[in-house]
Amino acid sequence: MKILIAADMEGITGVTTWDQVTPGHAEYARFRRLMTQDVNAAIRGALDAGAQEVIVADGHWKGSNILIEELDPRARLNSGSPSPFSMMQGIDESVDGVMFIGYHARNGSPNAVLDHTWSSRTVANVWLNDILTGEYGLNAAVAGHFVVPVIMVSGDQTACAQVTELLGDVETAVVKQATGRFAAECLSPEVTREMICVSAERAVERLAQGDVSEPFALDTPITVTVEFFTSDMADRATRIPSTTRQGTRVSLIAQEMASAYNGFRAMVMLASG
Ligand SMILES: [Zn+2]
Repeated sequence: MKILIAADMEGITGVTTWDQVTPGHAEYARFRRLMTQDVNAAIRGALDAGAQEVIVADGHWKGSNILIEELDPRARLNSGSPSPFSMMQGIDESVDGVMFIGYHARNGSPNAVLDHTWSSRTVANVWLNDILTGEYGLNAAVAGHFVVPVIMVSGDQTACAQVTELLGDVETAVVKQATGRFAAECLSPEVTREMICVSAERAVERLAQGDVSEPFALDTPITVTVEFFTSDMADRATRIPSTTRQGTRVSLIAQEMASAYNGFRAMVMLASG
């Protein structure tokens, strides 16, 4: 069995502020270590439950947060950006299950630490067909394109709830109870490491038994709609041929999810200027 761990940073143990997840900031050094530890806990759980191969995608910022010298040596690390599949680098048909570690809720969510969707300065909302979603939905749909299910998520209670609402009964590890965008009651890393490990273990056991939710497959062709914060962002995104626009919302239609993901990323890159 082969597992892809897609890791982000906002939903990592103890994180409550942008400073903690922003390279160059003094606090960041502490939290990239904590990110590495949350990921290690998931690797350990997956391997303990019988997975043979674990690949990690470092999906936050420019994809170079995880400390490879402290990463469980049994895993391989996809690092750096841009890569073809970004937060899902390493995904293909040979992967059996995906775990989301350190995930966060979509932009605009109450009680959600650092809630945003892909770019906190640029993107207000994203819809896949008519489904309002966050990064978790985009990334789950990329896994679904390869017929791979998401089997586990860690993050605050709202991130975990949004993932299960969209995807069904995936294993969750709630490492903090958010009380605002920049506030949460956080569990100790000692406690969360155990929680993440146990939940990863259970996820892989369930995968082996075929007791996991279906891969997230969208009806094709897929319409991706991005609502930007300002109209100049929408102006730039519409430079992509065949987009349509309503106010600050720009849409494109793709034949399948791999192209939809590229189209989405291209829109956001252009819009960010
Ligand atoms: Zn992030």
